[in-house]
Amino acid sequence: MNEKQIREEFKLRLAGVEDGTYCFSVCCNKEFFELAELDEIQDGMLNLRIEMVRYEKLVTLSFHFEGNLVLTCDRCLLPVNLPMDFNSHLVVKLVPEVEEGENQDDDDMWVMEENAYEIDLFHYVYETILLALPHRIVHEDDADGNPTCDPDVMAYLNQSSSAPQEQETDPRWDALKNLKLD
Ligand SMILES: [Zn+2]
Repeated sequence: MNEKQIREEFKLRLAGVEDGTYCFSVCCNKEFFELAELDEIQDGMLNLRIEMVRYEKLVTLSFHFEGNLVLTCDRCLLPVNLPMDFNSHLVVKLVPEVEEGENQDDDDMWVMEENAYEIDLFHYVYETILLALPHRIVHEDDADGNPTCDPDVMAYLNQSSSAPQEQETDPRWDALKNLKLD
């Protein structure tokens, strides 16, 4: 898919859509992450199910994201596979005319002109995925509580972080060494 085709996938048509419930399925894959410049995501895929309920001048959107993302481990810098499963909601109020600044008040409540042709969710989806990412990403510890990070990288990190500490000596021992026994 080219860039235009990917962006098209995130546009839901409003014009001529009658009151009712509609379901959509979109795939957020590597092409999408690259296009959205979600650089922290190396690879993976999220299936996104969108349920749209239109009732008069109100459009309620429920999003369910599910899948796997490949991110970079903060500790060893190698890829981490992260299962994802999260929801979000968005309410769109349709008005005859949007006043300036009205649409920027709330991330979960949009105001759009009632004759708008479509809702573009590309940016919303990108922001929602970004917010769902954990702040710290590391390989999980195994059952014994040992890190499952790359052993070579960990050995290197341990070596470089413990080296300066070995040179430090405990001042109490220094004091004892300097004690002269008569
Ligand atoms: Zn790691």
